[in-house]
Amino acid sequence: MSDERAQEALRALPQVDRLVRDIGELATVGPVVARWLVRREIDAARERVLAGADPGDIPAAVRSAVNGLSLARLRKVINATGVVLHTNLGRAPLDAAARDAILAAADATPLEMDPVSGERAARAPVAPTLVAALLDTEDAMIVNNNAAALLLALGALARGGEVIVSRGELIEIGGAFRLPDVMAASGARLREVGTTNRTRLRDYTDAIGEHTRLILKVHPSNYRIVGFTEEPPLSDLVWAAREAGVPLLFDIGSGLLRPEEDVLADEPDGATAIAAGCDLVCFSGDKLLGGPQAGILAGRADLIERCRRDPVARAVRADKLSLAALEATLWAYARGEADGLPVRRMLAATREQLAARARTLTDAVPEAEIIDGESVVGGGSVPGHALPTVLVSLRTDRPERLAAALRTQEPPVFARVEAGRVLIDLRTVHPTDDATLREALARAR
Ligand SMILES: *Cc1c(COP(=O)(O)O)cnc(C)c1O
Repeated sequence: MSDERAQEALRALPQVDRLVRDIGELATVGPVVARWLVRREIDAARERVLAGADPGDIPAAVRSAVNGLSLARLRKVINATGVVLHTNLGRAPLDAAARDAILAAADATPLEMDPVSGERAARAPVAPTLVAALLDTEDAMIVNNNAAALLLALGALARGGEVIVSRGELIEIGGAFRLPDVMAASGARLREVGTTNRTRLRDYTDAIGEHTRLILKVHPSNYRIVGFTEEPPLSDLVWAAREAGVPLLFDIGSGLLRPEEDVLADEPDGATAIAAGCDLVCFSGDKLLGGPQAGILAGRADLIERCRRDPVARAVRADKLSLAALEATLWAYARGEADGLPVRRMLAATREQLAARARTLTDAVPEAEIIDGESVVGGGSVPGHALPTVLVSLRTDRPERLAAALRTQEPPVFARVEAGRVLIDLRTVHPTDDATLREALARAR
């Protein structure tokens, strides 16, 4: 664009007030947000003109921004992807009791209040008590998420000293959460031992010295090293930690409370780790535990107390809504009713049950086929294991378009697109949503 034409294009840019008045969609967002959105798009257009490009369609960009705010709001969607713990769809769906607990705690609630004495008390003591009881250990504490639990424990127990970790466990977990970076942020020094595929007890014992404060074991949740591998049994690490007089912390990742079978057989669990002699374990609330986002630390009372007193504890504490949902989830375990949690039900659904539901779904959609496929646990849990499932397969010339049409239904439906087909996996759909899904499907095609 010539200079003159650019000057002309700049002068031709619309005025904020006029656009705010003219774009009807802006009525829904309130005047302050409306002006901000319009100004942002005009500024972007000005940048484009100065860079020699076309200003673009400013009203269309504003409408699209308003629409984007509406579509992205945190509301119910249907997860038909077959990824049970879909991090981008909010991980574990909560059961009815946990949802009720969130609603109740949204009001005034005795978060740090002793209902008997009317005096200030420890924050939300029920969840830590239940965790300690269920894992048969001394104490527990709840923080914002498992990354925070690690950050807190490393800082409180090893700041200024060394933490020994196997090179095979220096993991990155989705969203650029890297263990060495968390370690650095905590103020503890990382002492890597062994190699990626093989670490022996000797590697640990050789590294233990006067600066050692902690031995950390991390479940490499989201990948598996296969082939020529070696790691010392947990009992050897317990022995080494006791010999050295330093605590052993095991980040088990996914939050199984007790050992499970079948697809979860290789997942570590809190009760076994504690019984084996780990001084502390930490795990997430919203992975296999099936609860809200939370980080759970459990183990020796003196170590938990040091974590509680650390200044970082206040910065990573869990909010009352998560704590309420976590209490409800843990009660399901305490009462032996955890099999009813949505995550458990989804993992346990059989091919036959899913096939029956799939047949009902496809009644309304003649071009759909039912095929065999696999679901995955997701959330960085149980890598390399898939669950046999049935998929409703929709063959179309433009699968991306059908998937996009499903995502703009009310409620939106998230499906998989693979090899030119849209695939719907009912494993991750609540059976009570089947009818809604069928209607959404009928509309979207
Ligand atoms: C998922 C995971 C984390 C992070 O947990 P968040 O609750 O997402 O913060 C940390 N360590 C391990 C081993 C994990 O699997």
